[in-house]
Amino acid sequence: MKFIALLAVTFFTSLWGFAQTEPDYQALFKNLQNLQQDLKQSEKSAVTCEAAQVKNCKYGDFCQSLRSQSQNFYLYKNSQGKTVPNSFFIRLVDQVRACLDQPLPEVDTTDVFANPLKLKKSDPLYKSELARTQKIFADSQARVVKLLESRKNVENSKEIDQEIKRIKAIKIAAPLFTDKRELERECAYPGANYDSTNNTVVICPQMLGMPDASIFSVLSHEIGHAVDPCNVYAQIAGDSVAVGKNPFNEVLSCLSKPQSMGAKNYSKQQIKDAITKEEKDYAKSLGPLSPEVKAEYEKRRKIVDQNFDKYRYCRNFSRDADMQEGFADWVSAKVLSQKIAEIKDPAAAKTYAFEAQLTSAASECESVKVAAINRIEVALKNDCSQFADYKEQLLHADDYADPSKVPHPKISRRVDKILFAQPEMQKALGCTPESSTSVCD
Ligand SMILES: [Zn+2]
Repeated sequence: MKFIALLAVTFFTSLWGFAQTEPDYQALFKNLQNLQQDLKQSEKSAVTCEAAQVKNCKYGDFCQSLRSQSQNFYLYKNSQGKTVPNSFFIRLVDQVRACLDQPLPEVDTTDVFANPLKLKKSDPLYKSELARTQKIFADSQARVVKLLESRKNVENSKEIDQEIKRIKAIKIAAPLFTDKRELERECAYPGANYDSTNNTVVICPQMLGMPDASIFSVLSHEIGHAVDPCNVYAQIAGDSVAVGKNPFNEVLSCLSKPQSMGAKNYSKQQIKDAITKEEKDYAKSLGPLSPEVKAEYEKRRKIVDQNFDKYRYCRNFSRDADMQEGFADWVSAKVLSQKIAEIKDPAAAKTYAFEAQLTSAASECESVKVAAINRIEVALKNDCSQFADYKEQLLHADDYADPSKVPHPKISRRVDKILFAQPEMQKALGCTPESSTSVCD
């Protein structure tokens, strides 16, 4: 599932007419224009970065190392010219144009991956970057297969073979967008998604210009979803593993430990109790429930009774995404570690390890977001009063997310406890491991 945070992108469309005191629109216009100019300038003048030193093996420290770039167009650019646009900041600069009383054109940047509406299928750059991405996908897919093969024993060989067959059948798709709203809905931030109906990994166009390692880590996570503890029992590509026979049950129980991610592992009763609580809360706010609604809740509890073993780790069943995400992260961390261990030059290994985490940094690193917001606030000078509320929403997206959707577990918990727990990653990054963290093998 996507790494991206859920944000109400429509917020600024409702800004008009809400201003309490009349802002100095002229000054605001100038400030936002300058902000756009600075952004454009920083795109042009971007220089190659080196992988920074991450002190402790923690996502927060990794993010801190990117802070100096957080008010620029790019968070990172490597020696091959592959880039990670500062997508959170770029989107904000675009959105705050709604604070004005007259239209200000969009900032005209040249990077087609930062502004994928400009991308066309016939574009040679799109073609070459797609070919590179497909190669990375094939590598990642082959490595996941190898990982599964390495876990095979007399007891699980049938299930492992079923999983391998599914992994080998996964296709990759890289759709392009012509409609801004659709792009916001499907790919507001760079990322990818596993579509179990078609056994396909769908990659957002913004990913295509990124460093190899960033693409590899995202794709291997999505490939991992094909056999995550929910999808493993689903009929995908004509086959499914028998319920209860997940060959990775030991990994799941490890991920649930506090030294690891502490992934939630709800019992049947806990899931039923949560449904009952929801029913009670519903009745409290709406008054006595109709027999039909009551029957609906009863039916849901019955489904839990009957299908607990099959669906217990599915996000929509347990209302928790820990196990699915944790497992996909584990798959990604394992193949990434193996890949990094093969890189003999320590500087190159460090770069690869560093770049592997860059994809979601613009939208998930607290320090990067705060610095970007600060820069926006300087330009707004209190002349866009609604931004204060919007800021809360930007910083704590989960609190504002659609309650019908199950939020992803916090990224720091996933990175610190799974990826940065791998000895190969720690060695490559040269970071100090957390003593309370242990790796799941
Ligand atoms: Zn996921």
